[in-house]
Amino acid sequence: MLVTLNEILKKAKAEGYAVPAANVDHDHNVRAAIEAAEEMNSPLILNMVPAANPDMEFFGPVAAEMARRSRQIICLNLDHGKTFHQCMLGVRSGFTNIMIDRSTLPLEENIRQVREMVEICHGLGLTVEGELGHVGMGENYEVDGNQALTDVEEAKVFVERTGVDALAVAIGTAHGAYKGTPHIRFELLHRLRDALPVPLVLHGGSGSGDENLARCAKEGINKLNLSNDLKRAAIENLVSRDLSGNGAYQLYPLLAEGFKNKVKHYIAVCGCAGK
Ligand SMILES: [Zn+2]
Repeated sequence: MLVTLNEILKKAKAEGYAVPAANVDHDHNVRAAIEAAEEMNSPLILNMVPAANPDMEFFGPVAAEMARRSRQIICLNLDHGKTFHQCMLGVRSGFTNIMIDRSTLPLEENIRQVREMVEICHGLGLTVEGELGHVGMGENYEVDGNQALTDVEEAKVFVERTGVDALAVAIGTAHGAYKGTPHIRFELLHRLRDALPVPLVLHGGSGSGDENLARCAKEGINKLNLSNDLKRAAIENLVSRDLSGNGAYQLYPLLAEGFKNKVKHYIAVCGCAGK
């Protein structure tokens, strides 16, 4: 069943667990993620970054249809909509949540652009995720991993004035593979959770460690974005096999199997199995 982010995250916030948002870019990994959710009886969020599959007008409706056919509740999220045009393309392509990332802009301009997107999306029955503070790249983590953490007072103003349905916060994680050890600010997470009425989102879940992520899910994060770890698991499942002769036919099934098993692993870490 295809639903908006609110239909998944309101319950997650009320009951104190997270839901994995799996980055997908192909019908093989969409199917793998949905099968993982069905086997674990879990809600699921499908994340799509336009850079990973630029043909959103084709891929959006395919992923939306696959979500509709499932018995689980599934949200199709456009991750990091970089421009107004890209966000509108997401709306037209069947996405049920738009993540608009204007976190590198000054606060007032971030608020203005996110507010505009909220008005459009809410008018269409869709939801919106914003970002405050900035989640950078793991390869630069040793240099800028401590910069641009989310400020609690600013976040209160941001949520109230934009009307966003969920907020991505910067509490010490980073996108992609880490150089250096991630240091997650749980105390900051607690203050954000207690101060804000909306569900919180963690970007850069991969490489952050199961123990850290399970704790995040219990202590205030409701949506956990995962990309690198899922793709890595797919690759490892492939290269560990004997692919000689007709083994080549197993290319996509093995990638999907590795991807699916890792999504199931993170469903368990997030505490959303059976929800
Ligand atoms: Zn992100």
